[in-house]
Amino acid sequence: MSTSPRVQPLTGVSDGAPFVARHVGPRDDEIATMLAAVGYESLDALTDAAVPEAIRTLSELDLPDPSTELEALEELRQLSRRNRRQTQMIGQGYSDTVTPPVVVRRVLENPGWYTAYTPYQPEISQGRLEALLNFQTMVADLTGLPTANASLLDEATAAAEAMTLMRRAVRGGPDRFVVDADCLPQTIAVVQTRAEPLGITVEVADLEGGLPEGELFGVLLQYPGSSGQVRDLRPLIDEVHARGAQVAVAADLLALTLLTPPGEMGADVVVGSSQRFGVPLGYGGPHAGYIGVRSGLERGLPGRLVGVSVDADGSQAYRLALQTREQHIRRERATSNICTAQVLLAVVASMYAVWHGPDGLRDIARRVHGHASMLAVQLRAGGVEVVHDAFFDTVLAKVPGRAEAVVAEAAELGINLGLDGPDRVRVACDEVTTDADIAVVLKAFGTGVEPTHEIRSGIPAQLQRSSEFLTHPVFNAHRSETSMLRYLRRLADKDYALDRGMIPLGSCTMKLNAATEMEPITWPGFAGIHPFVPIEQAEGYLELIRQLEKWLATITGYAAVSMQPNAGSQGELAGLLAIRAYHRSRGDDQRDVCLIPSSAHGTNAASAVMAGMRVAVVAGADDGTVDLDDLRAKIDEHGDRLAAIMVTYPSTHGVYEEGIAEIARLVHDAGGQVYVDGANLNALVGLAKPGEFGADVSHLNLHKTFCIPHGGGGPGVGPIGVREHLRPFLPNHPLLPEAGPATGVGPVAAAPFGSASILPISWAYIRMMGPDGLKLATQVAVLAANYVAVRLRDHFPVLYTGRNGLVAHECIVDLRPMTKESGVTVDDVAKRLIDYGFHAPTMSFPVAGTLMIEPTESEDLAELDRFCDAMIAIRAEAERVRSGDWPAEDNPLRNAPHTASSLVAEWDHPYSRATAVYPSGAPADEKYWPPVRRIDGAYGDRNLVCSCPAPEAFES
Ligand SMILES: *Cc1c(COP(=O)(O)O)cnc(C)c1O
Repeated sequence: MSTSPRVQPLTGVSDGAPFVARHVGPRDDEIATMLAAVGYESLDALTDAAVPEAIRTLSELDLPDPSTELEALEELRQLSRRNRRQTQMIGQGYSDTVTPPVVVRRVLENPGWYTAYTPYQPEISQGRLEALLNFQTMVADLTGLPTANASLLDEATAAAEAMTLMRRAVRGGPDRFVVDADCLPQTIAVVQTRAEPLGITVEVADLEGGLPEGELFGVLLQYPGSSGQVRDLRPLIDEVHARGAQVAVAADLLALTLLTPPGEMGADVVVGSSQRFGVPLGYGGPHAGYIGVRSGLERGLPGRLVGVSVDADGSQAYRLALQTREQHIRRERATSNICTAQVLLAVVASMYAVWHGPDGLRDIARRVHGHASMLAVQLRAGGVEVVHDAFFDTVLAKVPGRAEAVVAEAAELGINLGLDGPDRVRVACDEVTTDADIAVVLKAFGTGVEPTHEIRSGIPAQLQRSSEFLTHPVFNAHRSETSMLRYLRRLADKDYALDRGMIPLGSCTMKLNAATEMEPITWPGFAGIHPFVPIEQAEGYLELIRQLEKWLATITGYAAVSMQPNAGSQGELAGLLAIRAYHRSRGDDQRDVCLIPSSAHGTNAASAVMAGMRVAVVAGADDGTVDLDDLRAKIDEHGDRLAAIMVTYPSTHGVYEEGIAEIARLVHDAGGQVYVDGANLNALVGLAKPGEFGADVSHLNLHKTFCIPHGGGGPGVGPIGVREHLRPFLPNHPLLPEAGPATGVGPVAAAPFGSASILPISWAYIRMMGPDGLKLATQVAVLAANYVAVRLRDHFPVLYTGRNGLVAHECIVDLRPMTKESGVTVDDVAKRLIDYGFHAPTMSFPVAGTLMIEPTESEDLAELDRFCDAMIAIRAEAERVRSGDWPAEDNPLRNAPHTASSLVAEWDHPYSRATAVYPSGAPADEKYWPPVRRIDGAYGDRNLVCSCPAPEAFES
């Protein structure tokens, strides 16, 4: 056919297919078939009809022409070589570590793990839920607390979450929070950023001599301290409790294998990073932060918590616990905006503990401590003063006036040390430190190297850990690589990820995460860089970051971009803080009302509250759009208190709203700012730019539109783009001026550029797609959503459509009429889809009783059809329930999903075993078998168990 809808032919290219043909699923003929079904001649005709003229961009994307996969890898290799690899002994919350190769191959580089979605469908997520339960058990054991969650974004934000958790626990109490001066500087800065809008006063004080006078609700301590010092925290913790306040301790998990854990000293909350458990430095992230709490605080834990429950057969099964605390349900009363966390990195850290076990971890810790002790002894012998007698891995040396020279000399010799003012140098040992490294460090200090192995422990007797940890069999069973290999395989086999089939999640864009995009992240030139190296050692990173910022600015139409936020939720907070700071810079301190449409993603309202704003909900009209009359009324009502509106575009209903320009104009005329939630940018790239159609700031989710894999619930990157007037209020960082404007709002993440080490993924995607390829991806995504809508609309009503009856990149199908007639619920359909071999779409968001489907551009026509056929077949099954052919309480929908073991039990259902497990007629050897039957979530919430159950508990 001569009128191919493609911008370029995808096949038949002599020098191999371009990347765009690998990324985009449907071939030319399939696109033609889909266009015919939807009723359009070409992709351009379709998107011209769908996208309102008012928002369409007139400018082409000013991006480099697409590279091949090999060229992109070569360019990235060059960039990685411009980062200088040194031995990293800077410490300050980041330590070099060895990712066990079996974990690199079987987890970090394994799409079975990294392409999985957040485990909202627990029946098909038992593998990663078990891994996360291991993580929780590991954190709980090491910190000495009963309950830990399944990860937070990093140590600094975990400390900020601890602060607000403790403040909630002392409701109506004072607003003063005291932070020990020996906490990590980036933690202090993030806590300050997060405290200010909430009206919390942060007082940074040296607590060596006890607590300052006056009322307070909480205290944050670091253990060991940023300076390396190890202190007995008990007297201080007792004093804080005596004053009616709570204590959070930021602790180093490896140190806790040797030190008395904070939980045993009475800490209420313990937070930290699990980075040094096998997760590469990666110039600052992504790494899994953690939080654990004493009993009584578990129901206030932020983030996700995995718990144990039972399935329909009474077998033990895992699922996310206490989901009702989440932002989706509690919205502006949510206690945290965490959505995407750091699942993949938590899995790596937990597997590090499974691999090494308690003895192995203790050995590593002893070796680390041994090197630090050896260094301290030798420094002293060489006449250098060592400041602290008690330490774990970090030695603070006093060299009056010479600190800079010592650090420079060490850098010259290939080792980065930490500079602590003009007189002090910090040397942090880690898992990879060798005797030879210690010799080089001593040389840099100018002291003679003596071949002595005299070691004096830096751990005081009263702080030596006596309690056991990681006694559960899982941490003691997999010592051989064969055993570990099989354990990891067994877990991955239980899960449904993109490497099995489509995950059509509305609002989450589960598209291809290409192997070429993933490859660079484990290269030493990217993985081995400490976030606080002198900037000239990170030239390659800086170049990559600046290029990506520029490309994203081009794509969004904004003037400037910050890469620091490490999830969409954090981008929201950063963007709202920028708006707040902008109003304040103009003397508009009273502007504190944030308008949010009723359909908004749950993080929006939670972020607004965290930014010190009051949430006012704007009603939705019947057609799903923002009700403009209600908007006008709300604008009038709040007058000069209006700070901002937060709208998602395309709307949460999957439609290109016509009214967006009008919404922006009304809010701007009233003096407010416009925040466009850009998590759904997959419907806009190449077609429209938020910065051109009236928005002042947006976050993008690189883990949705720009191919960073979902990781089973993280990592993510949530950069924000802003127009020129908000540029001075972007995030910055106390340890790196290049990370943001001096006038900025402070850091929202621990590392200057957030999760820097996964930025090569998005860089490679844009580089290989080029401007036309990116636009084509958007157009095919829109086509796929409309194709699904057309195929399903005679079976399930499509709830909302926009211009010309079209949807954007996703569609909502309404199950409520079916439920009303037949009693078959959204849950039944979602679980029955498992029997058909699919991951369910997004359930009951943004409208209860519906499914939101986002097919993305990466799924080919066969997979789209397979999914639509399954949905249609399920509709027919519901009809048999409605007609009474199958009883309401015993039918394949209500009993879904069906496990293999349910077949061998006695079978007295009114449908056959084949109907149960091979409903689609798909080949038997392609069957995905769920490991458990439907899980009773409420049971687990009533009987909260959030660490690994004893093996006997699995006996049924
Ligand atoms: C995913 C999403 C978010 C939250 O992003 P996280 O990275 O999960 O924090 C916010 N808004 C919308 C519309 C989203 O789809």
